Amino acid sequence: MGGLPERLAFVEKLANIYEARNDEMGEAMSLEMGAPISMAKSSQAGAGSWHIQNFIRAFKHFEFDRPLGNHAPNDRIFYEPIGVCGLITPWNWPMNQVTLKTIPAMLVGCTMVLKPSEIAPLSSILFAQMVDEAGFPAGVFNLVNGNGPGVGTQLSGHPDVEMISFTGSARAGSAISKNAADSIKRVSLELGGKGANIVFADADENAVKRGVQHCFGNTGQSCNSPTRMLVEQSYYNDAVEIAVEAANSTVVDIASKEGNHIGPVVSQLQYDKIQAYIEKGIHEGARLVAGGTGRPQDLNRGYFVRPTVFADVTNDMAIAQEEIFGPVLSMIPFDGEEEAVRIANDTVYGLTNYVQTQDDAKANRMARRLRSGMVEINGTSRGAGAPFGGYKQSGNGREGGMWGLEDFLEVKSVSGWSKE
Ligand code: NAD
Repeated sequence: MGGLPERLAFVEKLANIYEARNDEMGEAMSLEMGAPISMAKSSQAGAGSWHIQNFIRAFKHFEFDRPLGNHAPNDRIFYEPIGVCGLITPWNWPMNQVTLKTIPAMLVGCTMVLKPSEIAPLSSILFAQMVDEAGFPAGVFNLVNGNGPGVGTQLSGHPDVEMISFTGSARAGSAISKNAADSIKRVSLELGGKGANIVFADADENAVKRGVQHCFGNTGQSCNSPTRMLVEQSYYNDAVEIAVEAANSTVVDIASKEGNHIGPVVSQLQYDKIQAYIEKGIHEGARLVAGGTGRPQDLNRGYFVRPTVFADVTNDMAIAQEEIFGPVLSMIPFDGEEEAVRIANDTVYGLTNYVQTQDDAKANRMARRLRSGMVEINGTSRGAGAPFGGYKQSGNGREGGMWGLEDFLEVKSVSGWSKE
């Protein structure tokens, strides 16, 4: 699709349209997946603008045509668009995911078929209108709606689709990889997580509260949610107390109301699944210290879940190993760095881990030893254009910035190249 400056101009136009219609986008997402309206307009819709701007910055610095090195003057490396891309996205951060895939594909010159989650189709329909308004050439961006088995598999198995970029569950990621194997497609996967938040006794005083709030953000429906809080033994009892207070002061309310409460979870299916996990936690012998099964007081219908904290969790319990995808925190005591690393890494996932300590050298040591695509220290967010992605069953892709552009590119190596 066009040359580099032309593609940049289209995406810059789209960025302006998206920003101007930010609140509409927030409303669409609040309606489709239940994010509280203030958060839907700021974080959910805002994530889209953030990614578009970060990709524009990365694109401006990306060398699509570069020498191999001074040692090989006749070698040239080209980065070329991979071709037709199938983009399959989940419902939990709809525009975050859609922009992480469509924007780099557009910038590097791929054409694409987006299949958003059947549970959250509205935001992508609005996004398609914006792409149209920006005047992209017909055929560059295409939208299909439908479910995974019916429509998603048509994309993952299609011989003319060169690449699938998928974000969602490990179960679907595995099915897509198998279906894509016959046509040897590139498959980029962004899957689930069971992040450990390692709180040392010398953590700053807000660390535990911040961790609980982070775990409950987006009603616990984030792949990078810090759902296992590992606390150093000497601070453990105090930390449990702080976590209980933080959970009990978390307000749950309807999505259409302004404010910084958390909303309902997305569906009956998800509600039932979370309730079953809370029951399982009790059954497995974890100590329920906040929340529990059923709805919060004053909410007698809707998919509202009580902000829940389990203490004395052991890492072999289902609530420590499986993605619950609701506002449920599992607290696990540990003794020393070695044990913290062992527990944190004892999971099939490896998306984001978190470290809380005021000892900088210890924090850095932990960051090196944790087996995850991302480590966040002391509540510091990742910078603009940092790569997002996981180790192990959290996936194999890296989205955002320069890495996100590379995901959609083929690398061509030419030898015998003469200077032009
Ligand atoms: P899901 O896997 O059920 O669905 C995701 C998408 O895949 C949907 O569009 C769905 O229709 C499609 N799909 C499902 N089965 C398919 C199949 N067999 N073939 C092709 N397409 C198929 O996941 P979800 O419930 O929508 O989202 C929640 C999951 O997404 C969680 O596991 C969460 O951790 C993960 N997630 C990961 C990231 C990340 O970047 N790592 C970000 C957000 C969400």
